[in-house]
Amino acid sequence: MSSTHPTRRAATLCIHAGTHHDSATGGACSPIFPSTAYAFPHPTGANIYPRYFNTPNQRVIAGKLAALEQGGEALVFGSGMAAIATVLQTELRPGDHAVFQADLYGGTHHLVTRELARGGVEYSFVRGVEEFAAAIRPRTRLLYLESPSNPLLRCLDIAAVADIGRRHGVLTVIDNTFATPINQNPLALGIDVVIHSATKYLNGHSDLNAGVVVASAAWIQRLTEVATHLGGMLDAHACGQLERGLKTLALRVRQHNENAGRLARHLQQHPAVRCVIYPGLPEHPDHAVAARQMRGFGGMLSFELRAPSRIDRFLGQLRVVLPALSLGGVESLVCVPSRTSHRLMTPAERHEAGISDGLVRLSVGIEDIEDLIEDVDQALAADSP
Ligand SMILES: *Cc1c(COP(=O)(O)O)cnc(C)c1O
Repeated sequence: MSSTHPTRRAATLCIHAGTHHDSATGGACSPIFPSTAYAFPHPTGANIYPRYFNTPNQRVIAGKLAALEQGGEALVFGSGMAAIATVLQTELRPGDHAVFQADLYGGTHHLVTRELARGGVEYSFVRGVEEFAAAIRPRTRLLYLESPSNPLLRCLDIAAVADIGRRHGVLTVIDNTFATPINQNPLALGIDVVIHSATKYLNGHSDLNAGVVVASAAWIQRLTEVATHLGGMLDAHACGQLERGLKTLALRVRQHNENAGRLARHLQQHPAVRCVIYPGLPEHPDHAVAARQMRGFGGMLSFELRAPSRIDRFLGQLRVVLPALSLGGVESLVCVPSRTSHRLMTPAERHEAGISDGLVRLSVGIEDIEDLIEDVDQALAADSP
């Protein structure tokens, strides 16, 4: 499928890996193949059908992500949650046990607590590498992590968790959405399965839902069988749109990294800000781990206002940064986790999780950094007591 040399660098792979070359026209872009009916018997022996995850445009995305994450194979889903649910369904049977990082993406947390138990699967939530090891039982089949996590951007030593999984013969799975394959390649650190919500940075334009799983060819074959039953695939037009987004992934992520780093250091100096949470800052508790395993620190940052009561004034004054859910697009977005992702927790549970009422999460976009700094400054000035 991919005509790209395996040792090419990420920015080149974003553009060229997986491309479906159209020999009839010599076009530079993959054509879009919308058919849901393909010849049978097919001259190649293949049985092509969108829900079999094997149409040309699905294969283009899979080829690109397998190359970028340095994996054997990839599978493209209709959403990040479809990817996550299908991974869990593939590996876990009634009576099995799985270990999840406690500060999971909200949708994944709900999937685990509401659906896994219904399937007779037991689970534990843990914090930190040692707790992953301590939580393993005879029926443990899966260790699941996110690094950096949402919204406190904690970074777990990925190679250490991968090592625990390998020693116990347990599959290790990471949600790599926040880092992107540009900043972090977990398979190279020993992780078995990498998941992305492609809705975020991979597509990067806040205009489609998609998900991706990358792993060894053998494991993706198992995943494909289950995925075919569950049916959470992506259609050809959305694949074409996602392919276009992916071509600029390396370029966008470089700018997200740079803008977030600049804004983090700026906010650190601001009198209205109590603290800034960004893995690229030496003050971040996991800075050393992040520096070891990431090539860039990403576009997500959080900060705490000194006066939480002024949070609505701050949000209302912003003119460039949009108060909105989701993340990873070219536009800067801001949200307040205590009112969004963590609103269903009790105040005590939020306190325990480190989510204060003054906590603000920024998905730093790729606008001009001077405009972002000016916008946040004037909104914070309105916010000053
Ligand atoms: C958004 C997100 C998901 C879910 O992805 P969808 O495409 O919305 O289904 C999973 N994990 C993380 C870290 C996310 O940010």
